[in-house]
Amino acid sequence: MATALKVVPPEESVTKFVARKHKMLINGKWVDSASGKRFPTYNPATGEVLAEVAEGDREDIDRAVEAARNAFENGPWPRLTASERGRLIWKLADLIEENLEEFAELESLDNGKPLKIARVADVPMAVDLFRYMAGWATKIEGNTIPISVPYTPGVKYLAYTLREPVGVVGQIIPWNFPLLMAAWKLGPALTAGNTVILKPAEQTPLSALRLGELIAEAGFPDGVVNIVPGYGETAGAALAAHPGVDKVAFTGSTEVGKLIVQAAAGNLKKVSLELGGKSPSVVFADSDLDTAIKEASSAIFFNHGQCCCAGSRLFVESKAFDKVVDGVAKTAEKIKLGPGFEPSTEMGPLVSKEQLDRVCGYLESGFAEGAKAVTGGTKAGDRGYFVKPTVLVNTNDRMKVVREEIFGPVVTVLPFNDTAELVPRANNTEYGLAAGIWTKDIRKAHQVAAQLRAGTVWINCYNIFDAALPFGGYKQSGWGREMGHEVLEQYTEVKAVCTAI
Ligand code: ADP
Repeated sequence: MATALKVVPPEESVTKFVARKHKMLINGKWVDSASGKRFPTYNPATGEVLAEVAEGDREDIDRAVEAARNAFENGPWPRLTASERGRLIWKLADLIEENLEEFAELESLDNGKPLKIARVADVPMAVDLFRYMAGWATKIEGNTIPISVPYTPGVKYLAYTLREPVGVVGQIIPWNFPLLMAAWKLGPALTAGNTVILKPAEQTPLSALRLGELIAEAGFPDGVVNIVPGYGETAGAALAAHPGVDKVAFTGSTEVGKLIVQAAAGNLKKVSLELGGKSPSVVFADSDLDTAIKEASSAIFFNHGQCCCAGSRLFVESKAFDKVVDGVAKTAEKIKLGPGFEPSTEMGPLVSKEQLDRVCGYLESGFAEGAKAVTGGTKAGDRGYFVKPTVLVNTNDRMKVVREEIFGPVVTVLPFNDTAELVPRANNTEYGLAAGIWTKDIRKAHQVAAQLRAGTVWINCYNIFDAALPFGGYKQSGWGREMGHEVLEQYTEVKAVCTAI
């Protein structure tokens, strides 16, 4: 458990990196904050201070926006060919891959996730995302359009569209997949030719800062990517409201997403949002139940439930309810909690004391409303921010634990009788990010998939991500899509050019 800290020590380069007095990246230079202030980040496995980082605020954001504007308009960046831009992004992917172990260790230390997961998921997926986006640089095309203007008879036109970068982009990212979220944001922005101010989450800025070093090493011109760590209410809010920013892209809570929209209204900057979820996982009795139990467990417990698409409402067809509850509870009990660096750890701590309190608060609310924990239901240990993987039954669709995003390893299991009853209940949420369905009846699977109001539906699998597959939300889960070619729409403006010939 959390108290038995038999951990593998980090690599020397990682220890040295973490111990630095971290600065911010503005216009290609590592600088202190204008105020001189720093803020601490904590090791979630111990609660101890991990690193000290320059604390960005309005003035730093101003400087970063100025640098990004200058790089967008005057620097070598707008003069690069599409192929050159693509090659820089590919180079960045190579450099991340060369430093895979270091990034995995930074993620594990800063976020708390198991090192072995960061090695096989977070870092390789970030590499893959950059490579996928690098390929797009040379393929962002417009159209030629045959137009038929009724009021200019006899005149011929050559009409075409260009896809141009939006300009200076502010990107605000969360702490659950720090490097990967930076990749999801930077990859498409850069391939389309924008310049960026990235604000990492205050809980987990370290991998973004290391990424900043590799961005310089890859050869991106100064000011193309600026990285300003700091708190959300200060640096984040200043970035979202800044009149010199053309677009803001945000991943985080729906609550903060709404603040971003309000802040963006001042200059009507473009906004894309990837927000919360309360995703249904649906197990039909005719599914391969052993597989469904395994995958529905992973749908909620992967990354300690700290996924916006976590399958947190598990609907099980009544005939299979007891078996699935038992199976998911047994799976939960077997999950080995511990510090991310302990090789046997399968689930680390939550990211912060705030998250620990929030998740425990939800558990108390669930119990007060009559929910029962088949397993878990409490924090674990007396050191760090650990919560036991929890399976709640005796729940109903009106309870707070069923309606609100908990963002922790807590699943509510709810029985249903048939598809007609299931679909409106599964859709009875303000969110619409993802859903999972397990059944052997492929016709039923696609019928249900068509009726679920969610940006992603996984059938007989869950949490399958690919740089080529768009991801994002219906309803209050967001605006726009990440990844796939769809994301490029968010980072380009369309210009229609019409020539009389
Ligand atoms: P969580 O609740 O999961 O911590 P948040 O939505 O609060 O997620 O945070 C996601 C990101 O949004 C972080 O980088 C955080 O600093 C930033 N943020 C928080 N509040 C604001 C705000 N008012 N304006 C802009 N960014 C914010």
